[in-house]
Amino acid sequence: MPNSLIIAIDGPSGSGKSSVSRAVATELGLDYLDTGSMYRAMTWFMQNLGIDTSDTELVAKSAKAEVIQPSIDPSEPGIRVSGKDVSVEIRGPVVTKGVSAVSAVPAVRELMVNLQREIASSSQSGIVVEGRDICSVVLPEAPVKLFITADPEARANRRAKETGEDVTATIDDLAKRDLADSTRTASPLEIAQGARVIDTTYLELSEVIAQVVDIARAARG
Ligand code: C5P
Repeated sequence: MPNSLIIAIDGPSGSGKSSVSRAVATELGLDYLDTGSMYRAMTWFMQNLGIDTSDTELVAKSAKAEVIQPSIDPSEPGIRVSGKDVSVEIRGPVVTKGVSAVSAVPAVRELMVNLQREIASSSQSGIVVEGRDICSVVLPEAPVKLFITADPEARANRRAKETGEDVTATIDDLAKRDLADSTRTASPLEIAQGARVIDTTYLELSEVIAQVVDIARAARG
């Protein structure tokens, strides 16, 4: 157990979960997997092929797991599609707009969930896996399960600071994605049974990191 600690972290966009997950993985010497980047990379893959991402059947037919190659190094996170580094492109508005539709397609989820489980189970050092359905679907047996959240306004402010985009437009974009992610039929964003909720609205990033590190150390024993 000490060498195979799995920390599953879910939460909405802008909750701080990515920064927290990465920092915790670094501090504890664990691998790190950002599953959102996998759905984003799949969306980029489809868009790059000229596929209309609202065409559910075509998206399901065209999805391939082997093209999605995420880094699991917390000091160098990033992702490749068939060898091409798309880490910057997947953060752009075009992918962001298309990702909720692609990630709602069950065939896409099945491929990504299998790949995520393979990566987690082959990690030698233990791993922090973050996303929307990690505690509920991907790794429900993880010894540490967390749901990191914050008020919508706080999340939009943080996201806008990161992307340099307008706060009002970001509030609107996050609200749309929150709604799409939490009302979809396939693995909606929800607080999984047994997951501990951490509300980061009034917390500094360093306080959240310290809290999660403490929880992880206690689980490690
Ligand atoms: O975390 P991030 O904002 O990069 O995730 C992008 C999108 O990927 C989310 O809005 C959601 O639609 C999808 N996603 C998902 N399941 C995950 C991680 C992300 O459906 N485990």
